[in-house]
Amino acid sequence: MPRVLIAECKQEISSFNPVDSTYDYFTVNYGAELLAYHDGKGTEVRGALDAFKADSDIETVPIYGARSNSAGPLAQESFERIASEFSHALEAHASNADALYFCLHGAMGCTQEMDPEGYLLAEARRILGPNVPIVLSLDLHGILTEKMLKNSSGFALYHTYPHVDFADTGRRAAELLMRVLRGAKPTVCRVKVPALVRGDELITATGVYGESIRYAQKLEQDPRVLAAGMIIGNPFTDVPELCSQSVVITDDEPELAEVEALHMAGAFWERRAQMQPELVEPEEAVEQANKMPGAVIFTDAADATSSGATGDSNALLQALIDGDFAGEVLAPIVDPAAALMAHEAGLNGKLDVVIGGALDARFPPLQLSVIVEQLGDGEYPLESSGTPESAGLTAVLRCANYTIVALSRSVRFIDRSPFIAHGLNPEDYDLVVVKSPHCQPHFFDAWSEKNFNVDAPGSTSANLKTLGHRVCQRPMYPLDADVGFQPRAEIYR
Ligand SMILES: [Zn+2]
Repeated sequence: MPRVLIAECKQEISSFNPVDSTYDYFTVNYGAELLAYHDGKGTEVRGALDAFKADSDIETVPIYGARSNSAGPLAQESFERIASEFSHALEAHASNADALYFCLHGAMGCTQEMDPEGYLLAEARRILGPNVPIVLSLDLHGILTEKMLKNSSGFALYHTYPHVDFADTGRRAAELLMRVLRGAKPTVCRVKVPALVRGDELITATGVYGESIRYAQKLEQDPRVLAAGMIIGNPFTDVPELCSQSVVITDDEPELAEVEALHMAGAFWERRAQMQPELVEPEEAVEQANKMPGAVIFTDAADATSSGATGDSNALLQALIDGDFAGEVLAPIVDPAAALMAHEAGLNGKLDVVIGGALDARFPPLQLSVIVEQLGDGEYPLESSGTPESAGLTAVLRCANYTIVALSRSVRFIDRSPFIAHGLNPEDYDLVVVKSPHCQPHFFDAWSEKNFNVDAPGSTSANLKTLGHRVCQRPMYPLDADVGFQPRAEIYR
């Protein structure tokens, strides 16, 4: 009975977030705890376990999991602790392991190690030896490196953005692994594309990026193909191998893998200009919003905690105040000091606070006189998935026509949960600030008149040229002018 080890290590970072993340950002599980964590959740690990269970021959052995919300670069000593925990857990089970399923995100980055996933996979290969298959699942925002390719047998990739196919990706990874155990010979071809993309055309259900994904899905129907996908990387993870890339994995058919990976890369390159965001200057957005009778959304993707930003930008609040926006405004902000001061002042307390820039100094402090309307403990379920969030002390602060939800920690702002947690309905407001590049349509878009993608500053700005990439390969579209594309098929087997 083949024994498949199960492990996980996931974090996505923005290199432009000035606050390093640490070991205590991670939830770490060993053995059966890893199964318990994934129980009842639609995750990759859960999807993989369900697929393995369908084959009565397979025995699964959960060994180690570490996962964190998106954040700033991981402190080197924290990564080394995680890597050492992973290696020890693997060593304890290596002697009778037939395969490893390793669930990764792919967009980790450390203060020193620029290829953390590659490091972990090299460790796994060292411990397991050359013949034990290592199969991965990866986010399409991952950065697939040469070291990862050399130290793994194959991988399945997300096919949706916004992501809704976590469990399905785990299932596809598990099925690929089982084919390898039955004798398939994974032959990976990847073609790197020197382009970073962002914006609404990445929404796979409606945008042009979806055409790349549907082509990959069609390839996966071919019995000769083990997996295919189009990785776009996380443009905020500024590491040497950041780029977009097509990948096709066949069962011992290098020519087929090469032809299809080259085709996908070429088609993606042709569409690169379409996959750039349309952004509105803050002043212009406020001026237009002032004239609109319906509700308006200001998307502040530059401060998206789910992409690795701090969540403490006051840039849109400042723009709305400067532009004399007259309607009722609802805005979230990460500001531990303001939340604590509100708790000290108590309900209905009046205080002068400095809002914003608590973590990222690019946001100049904004002085406001506020009334404390609500206080909270920051424990609430995420509207999207029901998973628990811990935002630390929270407070609802009122200043003239502004209702500000202040939280102590950079939790995910991918839905309405920070508002719902305080009994606030975004539909009661004329303008809502949303700190996420894209949300499911019914959260905000379905009932608002217009959603402005505002060009605010921040560590996850879609205006990629403003970020100051220093590490990734150049030239890179759209960071540089006149970027050429010389397609080169790389085969790994
Ligand atoms: Zn992603």
